[in-house]
Amino acid sequence: MKVATISGIKTSTIIEQPTPKAAANYALVKILAAPMCTEVAAWQQGSLSNSLGHEAAGEVVEAPRGSRVTVGSRVVVMPQNGCGVCDLCVAGEHIRCQAPRNTTADTGSTNGRATFAQYCIQQDWLLYPVPDDVPMLHAAMACCGLGPTFNATKVMNVRSGDLLLISGLGAVGLGGVINGVLRGARVIGLESNTWRAELALKLGAEAVFDPQSPTALDEILAYTNGKGADKSIEASSAESAPSFLVQATRINGEVTTVGWGGAMNAREILRRGVTVRGAWHWNHLRDAGEMRNTLRMAAPLLDTFITHTFPLTSVQDAWAVQETGQCGKVVLLPWESL
Ligand SMILES: [Zn+2]
Ligand SMILES: [Zn+2]
Repeated sequence: MKVATISGIKTSTIIEQPTPKAAANYALVKILAAPMCTEVAAWQQGSLSNSLGHEAAGEVVEAPRGSRVTVGSRVVVMPQNGCGVCDLCVAGEHIRCQAPRNTTADTGSTNGRATFAQYCIQQDWLLYPVPDDVPMLHAAMACCGLGPTFNATKVMNVRSGDLLLISGLGAVGLGGVINGVLRGARVIGLESNTWRAELALKLGAEAVFDPQSPTALDEILAYTNGKGADKSIEASSAESAPSFLVQATRINGEVTTVGWGGAMNAREILRRGVTVRGAWHWNHLRDAGEMRNTLRMAAPLLDTFITHTFPLTSVQDAWAVQETGQCGKVVLLPWESL
């Protein structure tokens, strides 16, 4: 099978690797859509790797005996590889499993974890079924495109009447705009990339502020009658963003981070009485039906959110587009087309 690698600074190569095999409770998935996420940073730095990507949707082509999936099942491949038996995994919080499975030990395949590839293997219970009326490209947004902010808006019960502030309108934060809009909230954003700010407005955000402006906080407070947003999501991973959001969120409001950067100031959290949470992924066991409905309702917005598709063999071009910042979600097609 073809696999994309990083072979130097801003250099990638397509290599051939043996196709992994279904074994134990792992099914073999033919990857039809592989969304791109934060890998672009590794490409820029030249961090050598031949196991790239953590998002995929596709079709089961080989299922282990007695499996929960069958050949032909359309699925989204959940990231990580939970043990399946601990309290967290059983509750659908496999993303936080403290004893994840080792794919090679389980199956004997030394590859099969990458999603910038034509095939991957994953435990059957970590394959989320895709209904026939949801296109594969849209289904792939149930990974980082919509997933983390789906969970963030859910745990904060974002609803009609809320003003939701999203920091960072990249490939994750833009999904937050969609989740906020679908829940009936008013959405505002923080983003210095004007191209992405425009895209957020197209997706239904009503205003976007530049976090690099020295008056950004004042502007948001003025926009919210001095109160701040009701609820906020941090999706920028910028060092200063978490603390900024605590100040830009109303007293007794809520902040959820899906980004991995920066610190929050305990004094500010205490002073403003803000509830703070972290949302890494979403719960595919508990919220399966709700995600299906989200994918259906979001369909027209997803067509705006997904700005580019590239064949896997053109991954170099895909990263070059990501580097410009003039894109929403970029998706690789390992078989040239869907
Ligand atoms: Zn576990
Ligand atoms: Zn991701």
